Amino acid sequence: MAWDFETDPEFQKKLDWIDRFLDDQVEPISQLGVGYAGPKSKTYQKAIRPLQAKVKEMGLWACHLGPELGGQGYGQIKLALMNERLGRVGLAPVVFGCQAPDTGNAEIIAHYGSEEQKKKYLWPLLNNEITSGFSMTEPQGGSDPLAFKTSAVLDGNAWVINGEKWFTSGARSAEVLVVYAVTDPDHKDPYRRMSMFLVPRKTKGVEVIRYVGVGTERGGSEGYMRYSNVRVPYDALLGERGAAFVIGQTRLGGGRVHHAMRTVGQCKKALDLMCQRAVSRTTRDGRIGDYQMVQEQIADSWIELEQFRLLVLQTAWKIDKYKDYRKVRKDIAGVKVAMPKVYHDIVKRAMHIHGALGVSNEMPFSGMLIGSMVMGIADGPTEVHKITVAKQLLRDFRPDNDLFPSYHLPKVRQAAKDRFPDIAEELKQEWAARALSIDAL
Ligand SMILES: Cc1cc2nc3c(=O)[nH]c(=O)nc-3n(C[C@H](O)[C@H](O)[C@H](O)COP(=O)(O)OP(=O)(O)OC[C@H]3O[C@@H](n4cnc5c(N)ncnc54)[C@H](O)[C@@H]3O)c2cc1C
Repeated sequence: MAWDFETDPEFQKKLDWIDRFLDDQVEPISQLGVGYAGPKSKTYQKAIRPLQAKVKEMGLWACHLGPELGGQGYGQIKLALMNERLGRVGLAPVVFGCQAPDTGNAEIIAHYGSEEQKKKYLWPLLNNEITSGFSMTEPQGGSDPLAFKTSAVLDGNAWVINGEKWFTSGARSAEVLVVYAVTDPDHKDPYRRMSMFLVPRKTKGVEVIRYVGVGTERGGSEGYMRYSNVRVPYDALLGERGAAFVIGQTRLGGGRVHHAMRTVGQCKKALDLMCQRAVSRTTRDGRIGDYQMVQEQIADSWIELEQFRLLVLQTAWKIDKYKDYRKVRKDIAGVKVAMPKVYHDIVKRAMHIHGALGVSNEMPFSGMLIGSMVMGIADGPTEVHKITVAKQLLRDFRPDNDLFPSYHLPKVRQAAKDRFPDIAEELKQEWAARALSIDAL
C-alpha cells in the first residue's frame, strides 16, 4: 500500500526555511525590480548574489538538476513542493537557480551538447553567470513548428542563419540564443527538417527589431529578433542535424510541469488574498466573507486548486517513476490544459472580491490575470494540448466491430445470462412470481 500524501519531516524543515526566506528576504528585493538588468549589473551583484549564496549554503540551489550538474537530485515531487513556494515570488526562481528559460536551455545542453559547448555555456548558465534565450517561435505562428521558415544553410564549414523570431524571452540580457532553423527542407520526415543552434548574442547579424512587453508591461523583454546572414561554425549545431524537434520536446516537457508547479503557488497566493479580504472587508451586514455567494467563490477556488495541485503532484510522481517524459505526455498535457483555467478562475474571483482595489494597479491581480492567459499560450496553446490528451487516450481503444457499442446494455445482459444461466433462470422465476419480466430490468 504505497499511497502517501505526507511530506518527509526533514524536507518539511527545508520548506519552512524557504517560506521564511522568501517572505523576509526575497519578496522585498523582488518588489524593487532588481534582476531586470541581468546578472552582470551592479544591483544584481549587490542584492541577488548574497541571496543565491544563502540558497547554496542550504543545499537548495538548482534543485531541478541531478548532483552531476550541481543540483540535489531531489526528483520532481520535492521540486513541486519547492516550486509551489517559489511561484509566489517573482524573483524566487532566479535566487534558487531554476529560472526559465535557462533551466530548459541548460537541460538540453547537458543532454545534447558537446564537451566544448558544455564548457562554454552549460556551467556559466548553471551558475547563473550568464543567461540565455530560446528562439523558436516565428511571427507567422508558433503553434505549428512545421511552418517555421528561419533557415540555416551550410557555406563551407559555417552555417548561415536567416529569419525572424518572435517572443524570445529574456533576449535583453541573454548571452547565448538557442535558435531553431530549417536545415533540411526536403527531408521526407517533416519532423527532421529543423536543427538547433547555439548562437552567441553578439554574433554579427543578430538584431532585436524591438522588445515586446506582456500585458501593460512597459519596456518588456520578449525579443522580436532578426537573424540576417548570421554565420556560426559547423559545431554551433546542438545535438544531431535534424533533431530540433526531438530536443525541443525534452526541454518543453519538464518546463511545462515546472510552470504548473509555480502556478499552484500563484493560485494559493490569490486564494490567501481572497480569504484575507473576506474576513477584513465589512458592509452593514458584517464581513463580506459571511455572504454565501462570497463563500461559494472561496470554496470553489479551494476545491479547484486542490484538484489541480493533486494532478500536478501525481504527474511529478509519474515523471520520477518512469524517468521518461514520453510516458507522461498525456499527464503533462492535461496539467498544461488545466493550468490557465484554474489560475484564471481563482484570480478573477480574488480580483472581484477586492472590488475596485482588485482591478487597480495597486494589487497584483491584473498581472496575474494576464499571467493566466500566458499559461494558455506559451509552450503551446491549450487546444493543442487537449488534442494530445485525447489522442493519447484514444490510442488505448479499438473500434467496435458491431453496429451497437460493446457496452450496449442488451448485449451486456445477454452475456451475463449466458455466463450465469442458473441464476438468470432462478431470477426469471422470482420476477415472474411478481408479474414482472427480467428483461424489463
Ligand atoms: C510570455 C510568453 C513567453 C514566450 N516565450 C517564448 C520563448 O522564450 N521562445 C519562443 O520561441 N517562444 C516563446 N513564446 C511563444 C509561444 O511559444 C507561442 O506564443 C505559442 O507557441 C503559440 O504561438 P502563437 O503565439 O504564434 O499563436 P498561434 O500559433 O498563432 O495560435 C493562435 C491561436 O490559434 C489557435 N490554434 C493554433 N493552432 C491550433 C491547433 N493546432 N488546434 C486548435 N487551435 C489552434 C489557438 O487558439 C491559439 O491560441 C512565448 C509566449 C509568451 C506568451
